[in-house]
Amino acid sequence: MKNKWLVRFLMISVGVLLAACNESDRGGSGVKNLASVEDVEWKSHGLTTDEQRFSPLVQIDRNNVSELGLTWSFDMYTRRGVEATPLMINRTLYVSGSWSMVYALDAVSGELKWFFDPKVDRSFLSKGCCDAVNRGVAFHDGKIFVATYDGRLVALDADSGDVVWDVQTTDRDQSYTITGAPRVAKGKIVIGNGGAELGVRGYVSAYEADTGEMAWRFYTVPGNPADGFENEAMRMAAKTWTGKWWQWGGGGTVWDSMVYDPELELLYVGVGNGSPWNQKIRSPEGGDNLFLSSIVAVRPDTGEYVWHYQTTPSETWDYTSTQHIMLADLEIDGQERKVVMQAPKNGFFYVIDRVTGELISAENYAHVTWATHVDLETGRPVETPNARVFDGKNVTLPSNAGAHNWPPMSYNPDTGLVYIPTMVFPVRFLEPTEEKDMKPNQGLWNVGFDRIVNVPPAIAQLDAILEKEYTGSLLAWDPIAQKAHWQLKPGRPTGGGTLSTAGQLVFQGGKTSHFSAYDAQSGDELWTLDVQTGAMAAPITYSIDGEQYIATAVGFGGGMAAEGGAVAHAWKVPNISRVLVFKLGGVKQLPPVPDREKPLPKPAVVSASADVVEQGKVVFHRHCAYCHGDGFRTGGVTPDLRYSGEVIHKMWDQIVLDGILSGAGMVSFSEFVTKDESEAIRQYVLSEANRLYDGKHIVQ
Ligand code: CA
Repeated sequence: MKNKWLVRFLMISVGVLLAACNESDRGGSGVKNLASVEDVEWKSHGLTTDEQRFSPLVQIDRNNVSELGLTWSFDMYTRRGVEATPLMINRTLYVSGSWSMVYALDAVSGELKWFFDPKVDRSFLSKGCCDAVNRGVAFHDGKIFVATYDGRLVALDADSGDVVWDVQTTDRDQSYTITGAPRVAKGKIVIGNGGAELGVRGYVSAYEADTGEMAWRFYTVPGNPADGFENEAMRMAAKTWTGKWWQWGGGGTVWDSMVYDPELELLYVGVGNGSPWNQKIRSPEGGDNLFLSSIVAVRPDTGEYVWHYQTTPSETWDYTSTQHIMLADLEIDGQERKVVMQAPKNGFFYVIDRVTGELISAENYAHVTWATHVDLETGRPVETPNARVFDGKNVTLPSNAGAHNWPPMSYNPDTGLVYIPTMVFPVRFLEPTEEKDMKPNQGLWNVGFDRIVNVPPAIAQLDAILEKEYTGSLLAWDPIAQKAHWQLKPGRPTGGGTLSTAGQLVFQGGKTSHFSAYDAQSGDELWTLDVQTGAMAAPITYSIDGEQYIATAVGFGGGMAAEGGAVAHAWKVPNISRVLVFKLGGVKQLPPVPDREKPLPKPAVVSASADVVEQGKVVFHRHCAYCHGDGFRTGGVTPDLRYSGEVIHKMWDQIVLDGILSGAGMVSFSEFVTKDESEAIRQYVLSEANRLYDGKHIVQ
């Protein structure tokens, strides 16, 4: 392992030596010029093709990290979630913000070089589950590639930001969105999409980097057999489905992780949950439902299927396997094995042979209620008797949010540990009672469970529950022994992505509004800074003119702010979308936190009966709360409806039923909500606004 690390370091360092030689060749004045030192870049999403996110840079280490300080910051132009891993190429930091906007910044000074706004149609907000976030751009041959929330893949000139090509990768009439970072595989740009909560069929596509011409497309779940299958893999997969699944889309979207393995010439694709989640509705007679919740290996030239490993057969809990896939060569039982590692939502850490797809080992890295273990003979999980009890009382762990979600892990070959941002987020599932929730629909959230059971209690009780039940912590996991090496004391379930360095440090945002550095071996916190907002994205590190920098994009939002709004709200973390760059001795201070709380005029009186208000509460939590927050606790990204002014109340039905604000992402709910129910929701909003009004604000 040590040797492998050395090879990586030498590969990256060879440029340093070459640059130094060139400098002396030029003769020069004999004055040592630090500018001649070759810069160490961060050229692709996971740094190297194995996506270990382990940097060989050692200037910042355990002894001096306490001297780390901000050197520059850049405020993005939006106030939604930020999830991007930046890239650093040729002294330029390329980072994407919400609405798929791209910022090219001078990596030393933070000065804006260019900005690209793909002008995403804002009505697409209602086509996605989890905010208009973007997890990063790709770089290849002088071009930057960004995938947009409305389903396009755009190639930009890396120097100027000019559009080279712009192609639509999805059907705009369906609920496809893209939040993931494209990957580069053998000169092709590969991209998936999202939308499995809203009735789509997942796939991944590859485009020629030069022209934007589509090279191939691989569907992850079968379509209607009557239309014929695209390939043998789909014919095989269809045998594991029952009923008329295609009417529901099927799901299986590839919304985040993909890794290209140049050694084996394979592309590993992480496949998501079923659409709808509830398998009894989606595939009523059961079946494994391939390739949901699987890692699938395909050929990067053709998209041809090679192997798959399914982490969660008969998926029904939103247990995606879209989480970070990492490649490594590990010595297991005296043998060097080429593996992929993944800690998907379902709570088990998988080590899989990446030549064959065979399971090597799997152990739970978090508390799991749905399965006792994974049987290594069959490669399948052994479910508990209460795994599929959806009575609204049975607590399921991990929740649909997962024990680990999209925030990337990192690996340190020296410690042999994988650093995983983990979460505990208990959930209760309830079978739907309304006929309309059991019918396929395209375009609106429908997962086949009734979310009314997850309405949170009053905030005072909530705080106590949060402390106890909703937690998160950074976990250092030994993938060979399959056990925890250390785990931080549980805090709030924030779980930002991680970065590992040869300085034996782990960097992570999270812990409410802090960004911190930990000792890779012991987990001791060595440095922390309040960055005023939630830091969810993974940091990177690079070196320019011999000086090492740590960079991260911050800004709370995303799925945790939308779906987990109640919890998010209790963190009291605002969204400040910003790029932060640190170095040893950095002295820049952040500006004061802006006061964005607007005073509220006295809410109008409730004119309906208590019964109507109660009905409004039920309908609100069934159809509105996944964006507007359980109990209106929105996590700061969508409007808190209790602050709705007179104008909004006057236009209520036009907004809810006619969709006049669809341009801002609030589409018509007339298919789900009657005129009476719309009014009941309004009365519930007024009732809650009045109940907690102190003359100026809503008091929690
Ligand atoms: Ca999902």
